[in-house]
Amino acid sequence: MSVESSTLTELAGDLTKEKIWSYRDEIIQLGFELSEVALIEALPASGKSRGSIQWAADTGNKMTLLAPRHSLLDEEYEPWCDKFDLTSRRLASFYRDCESFTKTDEGGYEPIDPVAEDLMDDYQQGIDGKHVHAQHRDSTCQQDGECPYLENLSFDPDEYDVLLGTYRHAHVEEWIDGRYVVFDEFPGSAFLKTFNGDTEDIISAYLQEIDDLPFSSYRDLLRHHRDKDVQDDIESWKTNLHESLTDSTHVRQSTNPSVHTMAPLATLAVIEEESLENDWQYSILGNGRRAVLNPNSNNWTFLLPPDVSSAPRKWP
Ligand SMILES: [Zn+2]
Repeated sequence: MSVESSTLTELAGDLTKEKIWSYRDEIIQLGFELSEVALIEALPASGKSRGSIQWAADTGNKMTLLAPRHSLLDEEYEPWCDKFDLTSRRLASFYRDCESFTKTDEGGYEPIDPVAEDLMDDYQQGIDGKHVHAQHRDSTCQQDGECPYLENLSFDPDEYDVLLGTYRHAHVEEWIDGRYVVFDEFPGSAFLKTFNGDTEDIISAYLQEIDDLPFSSYRDLLRHHRDKDVQDDIESWKTNLHESLTDSTHVRQSTNPSVHTMAPLATLAVIEEESLENDWQYSILGNGRRAVLNPNSNNWTFLLPPDVSSAPRKWP
């Protein structure tokens, strides 16, 4: 559902800052009243972001605000929360908070030592930050007490009016549950994942590690997943799949560098694939998740939208 601000025709005659802000506030209110996701489109500098925080202050509703960059949270949202007397908390961010990483001049993060490189490798294989730290207790960030990243994970969301994070924080239900969720800017590409040619290796590494499916590799899966005699095994594997379609067990057990927690999702994409007329492959994976295979690059891309169903469906 889109809520459009058709400012030009309605306001052009007598356009004042106050009128724009008033109209903005109406649109934001309307967006929160909808029982579905609302997209608010408005001109830059019309105050959509500030207006969202002001709405939280005016209504007393708890909010989780997710921005594309930490700098926006630093420079805009934290000061606005202060201005409107709202208690806010920055959600834990692996690279930003963990002392095993240091910021580069380009704005990225790099490991400070070899153990930090191991932390990073495991994290990039899809293991969550908490487990990564548990696997590498000798990391520098854990030598003088708990790593600041881990410390920052433990808190009661109810104690804060506004939680401030980036798009990937939308995947943590505890930080969304019962709160109004605002995405600053458009998060579309943030929820796409492409393995850039690694999908075959990821699936092969998974199939070699598990016993539930009768395939030895990606190629074997591709050739035989429609065979009659494997359908029972596939159905049984699908029944036992964790709803998140991720699996960290095989990642922890295997020494294969290609392992990834998203391997079950990628395997399911191959099993469920349907061919489109333009030669692309397409798979529906449940809970809004989709996968497509680009026949030119042979790359799978996954759409993994966060489940925000635990946020309020409608403003009371
Ligand atoms: Zn750490």
